[in-house]
Amino acid sequence: STVIHWFRRDLRLTDNTALHQAAQDAAQVIPVYILSDWQKRHAWTGSIRQQFLCGCLESLDKNLGALGSRLILRCGQADQELEKLIKETKAEAVYLNRDYDPYGRDMEKKVEEVCHRFGIPCLTYKDRVLHEPDEVLTGSGGPYRVYTPYSKNWLSLEKTAPQGKPTTLGKAPAKDLTSHPLPDLGHWKLEPTQASLPAPGERAARQRMKDFIESRTLNAYAQKRNIPAGVTTSRLGQDLRFGLISIRELYTRCSAATSAQSPSDDQKSVATYLKELAWREFYLAILWHYPEVFDEEFAPEFRGMPWPGSDEQFQVWKQGQTGFPIVDAGIRELLATGFMHNRVRMIVSMFLTKDLHCHWRLGESFFMQHLVDGENASNNGGWQWSAGTGADAAPYFRIQNPWIQTKTYDPEGTYIRQWVPELRGVSPERFTAPPKDGRSLAPGYPLPMVDHHEERDRTLAIFGKHRETK
Ligand code: FAD
Repeated sequence: STVIHWFRRDLRLTDNTALHQAAQDAAQVIPVYILSDWQKRHAWTGSIRQQFLCGCLESLDKNLGALGSRLILRCGQADQELEKLIKETKAEAVYLNRDYDPYGRDMEKKVEEVCHRFGIPCLTYKDRVLHEPDEVLTGSGGPYRVYTPYSKNWLSLEKTAPQGKPTTLGKAPAKDLTSHPLPDLGHWKLEPTQASLPAPGERAARQRMKDFIESRTLNAYAQKRNIPAGVTTSRLGQDLRFGLISIRELYTRCSAATSAQSPSDDQKSVATYLKELAWREFYLAILWHYPEVFDEEFAPEFRGMPWPGSDEQFQVWKQGQTGFPIVDAGIRELLATGFMHNRVRMIVSMFLTKDLHCHWRLGESFFMQHLVDGENASNNGGWQWSAGTGADAAPYFRIQNPWIQTKTYDPEGTYIRQWVPELRGVSPERFTAPPKDGRSLAPGYPLPMVDHHEERDRTLAIFGKHRETK
């Protein structure tokens, strides 16, 4: 029989649950990816992630070629395109891995309806997560709203072991089955990006996973993960986002990785790392159970709050010209690489919302345009956490001081000097407080655009007043 595997956020062959099952069940698997016809209708996508996607599709097509198959690309709305393909190939089933994002979920429902009309099964699988949102629930059967008890439950559940890679997908799709050419940025009318991105595709991602586990980065994770200079974290965000590696394989391999030299440190690091993976599924579960977080604050008491920050200030933040070296370094790292270290994501997001009083949604959408690991659930969760409005948020009155954060996490100024070249000759203690002499740190580098203490008080006043009205 012939079946379709619809690739979505699972752009790999290894340990791909739906693909594996399709290969076992059918004589021929038609591998399909459907390109969105997004044409700048919304501000949540940008050149960086699409460039990475293009590379991933090219690599997937090559990997399928090695199995004697090829990637069929179509463009448009997934349900309509799959409908055409079912007719053209006389497919007897559609296989796919489930998505937990509201858009992905809606589309899944539409595809199920199409299959239903054809009288063929639409077989959906758990693949993107270790535990689906409805598998991790409180004692009374409801969703968690706070991370720590969620993560304890998540960690205690049995994990599925990874499977290998299919050895064949059967006969290649017929030669006359049309396929859109592999896309480039022109497909979405996007400008080329100057950012230097991680290498795309399954093979490169697997190499990153191997390097992370075998190098000292995993062993030192508990100790170093908050340091933004150098490579102190796994840098696997985009690989999980696009499904270039399987979460089961990552979890299993990390769990098994402890070396003889310093087993207790290693175990602590591995445990810390696995807990971070739980954050990803926590935010996916939040978006699943509370899809309204996408449009409004998770915490009802902060809905409808004023965000009086100006567009002018937002533009300055976006350019990395705030005069707060750690904030500017973060934004510039993002623009240059599509990545920003987690600690710095917290600092820059808190700065935008608590020092500039700009709405978190502005920052959320800017991050989505530039992050190569940009992902609705984690990004929304991270932004609402920083804004003090989200699930498990930092309480609104606990406002990080960017100068003190610099002293704690970049005391030598290594990170700042890497990303803000104007400041390379400046001694690092000057990055840990506003300039006392009122003079700029270096020619061409701006003075701090606001006074942190004043803005902190203003934030407390805005939040406090709004809560009184509720
Ligand atoms: P590591 O520290 O090596 O962590 C390993 C993996 O665990 C990550 O790849 C990620 O999948 C997961 N993870 C770790 N921390 C978190 C977290 N706090 N929330 C959710 N997942 C986590 N992460 C995204 O994947 N996409 C986003 O769009 C995103 N936006 C963010 C926005 C803000 C304002 C903040 C504060 C955080 C955001 N994060 C996002 C979470 C985190 O910053 C990144 O997952 C992490 O920096 C990716 O780098 P890494 O793979 O080296 O992380």
